[in-house]
Amino acid sequence: MFSSRIYIGRFFFRTYKTDQIRVRFAPSPTGYLHLGGLRTALYNFLYAKKHNGKFILRIEDTDQTRIVAGATEQLQNDLEWSGIEIDEGPMQGGTFGPYLQSQRLKIYREEVQTLLDNGSAYHCFCTDNRLQLLRREALRKQEIPKYDNKCRHLTAHAVQNRLDKGEPSCIRFKISDNEESFEDLIYGRISYNISLNEGDPVILKSDGYPTYHFANVVDDHLMKISHVLRGAEWQISTTKHIQLYRAFKWEPPMFGHLPLLMNSDGTKLSKRQGDIRIGHYRDSHIFPLALLNFIVQSGGGFTKDLEKHLKPKCYSIVELANQFDISKINSHSGKLMADRLLEFNRLELRNKIEDAKQISKLIKEVKDLLKSNFSERVENNSLKLDDAYIQNILQWSCNRISKLSDLISKNLEFIWVIPTEYNIDKSSESSIDLLKNELEKEETELDTEHLNAMLKTFCKDHAIKYGSFMRTLRYVLSGLKEGPSVAEMVVILGKKNTIERLDLFLNKTKT
Ligand SMILES: [Zn+2]
Repeated sequence: MFSSRIYIGRFFFRTYKTDQIRVRFAPSPTGYLHLGGLRTALYNFLYAKKHNGKFILRIEDTDQTRIVAGATEQLQNDLEWSGIEIDEGPMQGGTFGPYLQSQRLKIYREEVQTLLDNGSAYHCFCTDNRLQLLRREALRKQEIPKYDNKCRHLTAHAVQNRLDKGEPSCIRFKISDNEESFEDLIYGRISYNISLNEGDPVILKSDGYPTYHFANVVDDHLMKISHVLRGAEWQISTTKHIQLYRAFKWEPPMFGHLPLLMNSDGTKLSKRQGDIRIGHYRDSHIFPLALLNFIVQSGGGFTKDLEKHLKPKCYSIVELANQFDISKINSHSGKLMADRLLEFNRLELRNKIEDAKQISKLIKEVKDLLKSNFSERVENNSLKLDDAYIQNILQWSCNRISKLSDLISKNLEFIWVIPTEYNIDKSSESSIDLLKNELEKEETELDTEHLNAMLKTFCKDHAIKYGSFMRTLRYVLSGLKEGPSVAEMVVILGKKNTIERLDLFLNKTKT
């Protein structure tokens, strides 16, 4: 299909004449936003942001059979969560609305009349039956099935007669059988002869709904879209769109087609894989900026080479927008390096921990996470939830975890969960009491190395069996039979909390 594409490098022979960059993201509400869709939205958004332009969300919902309830709202939520700000859209409104295609049917019918009047479009009365016969005949002859443009040649008189009789018809656009070219902002010159593979396409169906291609062109023009950045799967259709613009005597926007996003092993990303939904990443405690950085490092498009940057960095949206350069987008497909996602998330977590403005929000996120995961502990008050403590733990975790949810992994549960039940021999009581006194004498916080030494000396001095005492101690401090070393636990908990937990045990055993 791509055989007639000619590459003659990237050059830009036209600058856009209006005073504003206007881009759009135009999904169909047929499901969830996934990585590929987010990439398209993001590149449009970055381009608008860099040039003080406008980012428009348009919902292409003219195929009513494919609409999924609630998908439009979900799409907007996902975009907002990602940090993509919508300037005009179904919820935001705007001068060029409505932004739902199903609310623009009157506009399409008016515009189709222009093409009927200037002879670029015509009524087609062919029945489904006839079209199916054509198709079967072509397949039998091993030819490409396409409409034979029969109704192009009906006289105006004949058409009027059939319309008067109330015969159902659709409207088709006369495509030219010449090769059509355009300058792709990413791929350079693209040339293609649509008529080789397609008959005159339907632009308005007999039920009055426009087809995708027609509505898309009309809306991009009426919404004054200056640049269209979309997936490479639309590249061939663009030559058809150019013909529509010409029939209307409209100037087309600039087009750039984004290469496919692939898995690191070169296989195609699929919507069927549940794990590429944006909602999935959000639920997995991936930060929006980490996800955006993960996406942009796969396909170029930035003045600095993000991949080869010496110090890995999670860029802000403003930084990404400033660096964004369409001419630097790769024309070969981009591979997503799955392992980089957690790396970016770790960097973003560190940014947030080190940022005084963001830390309180982060603390709240940890609190919510704890409350939802240990709800029964909230009721009996055996969960550590104070801000200062959480902040300390976050600082400790800075280079150790890549997601907030790592903080509630089985191994680290003891940080939050205060043991309430002990199934320990009472004979440990005196040793624990002794250790408590010893710890209280320490004036500063101890590091792991010193604690290890101190615990060993302590056991030796009091003739306590080291191994079994450590097991008891771990159990008293955490309720865990296995896990990090006792010294490590004491460092994480801090002296004060450690003593508190020892006290709790002593009080329990006394009663
Ligand atoms: Zn026909």
